[in-house]
Amino acid sequence: MQLPERFMNKVSIDSDTGCWNWTASTTEGYGSYWNNGKVNRSHRYAYTTAYDYELQPGEVVCHKCDNRQCVNPKHLFVGTQQDNMSDMVKKNRHTGKLHTSDVSIIRKMIQQGYSGNHIAAIYGVSKHAISAIKNGRTFIAV
Ligand SMILES: [Zn+2]
Repeated sequence: MQLPERFMNKVSIDSDTGCWNWTASTTEGYGSYWNNGKVNRSHRYAYTTAYDYELQPGEVVCHKCDNRQCVNPKHLFVGTQQDNMSDMVKKNRHTGKLHTSDVSIIRKMIQQGYSGNHIAAIYGVSKHAISAIKNGRTFIAV
C-alpha cells in the first residue's frame, strides 16, 4: 500500500543510501508522525502501512540501515525486542557470515513469512545460506 502524500512530504530521500530521512519532528532519534490524533513512530507507520502489516505484541520495527530517521519500508524489518535482533544484525551484517546465534532468529523469520531474499539481504549472505537453514541443514560459515 502506498504511503500518503502527507507522510511523504516529510521525507527527504538520500540518493546515496536510499534512506528516506524523516524531516519533521523526532523523538529519541525516531521520526514522529501524527495521524488520526495519535502520534506514531514514523518508521513503524511506514512499515505497517506499506506492507499492510499489523504488529503483534512484542514485535518492533527495526532498521537494516541503522538510521533511525529512515522510514524507507525496504530498509525496515520486523523483529522482537526479546531477540534484540537489530543488535545482532548490526554485529554480523558487514561480515557476510552467520553465527550460531543467527540461525534461530533466521528460522523465526522464515516462520514469520520472510522471503529468503529478504533475510539474505538483511544478513548480507547468499540465498543458499538461508535456504540451507530453511531445509534444516545447519549452515554456519564462521
Ligand atoms: Zn535507510
